[in-house]
Amino acid sequence: MMNESRCGLLCQQCHYSEQVGCLGCVAISKPFWGENCPIKSCCEDKKQEHCGQCRQFPCALLQQFAYDPQQGDNGARIKQCQYWREQQ
Ligand code: SF4
Ligand code: SF4
Repeated sequence: MMNESRCGLLCQQCHYSEQVGCLGCVAISKPFWGENCPIKSCCEDKKQEHCGQCRQFPCALLQQFAYDPQQGDNGARIKQCQYWREQQ
């Protein structure tokens, strides 16, 4: 499996991954930060590996996460999903 997250986040760039021992959201049933992640759930409900495989990509919800002033990454995860899509 190539992708470690549904949304395009790279675990090596996440400072929580070591701190809380997170294995990446593809490998766990719920995110460490809450009961569920709407992106993870949406993607898995569609039986997709990541958002880049989605016909609605990049949807408003994904953009909201990616460009969130605090938790976002200025769109980097959307580019990562695009990259994964091109690799397939
Ligand atoms: S925001 Fe959601 S989809 Fe993205 S890495 Fe975290 S749990 Fe996974
Ligand atoms: S791009 Fe949006 S609609 Fe498509 S799977 Fe991801 S979160 Fe769901």
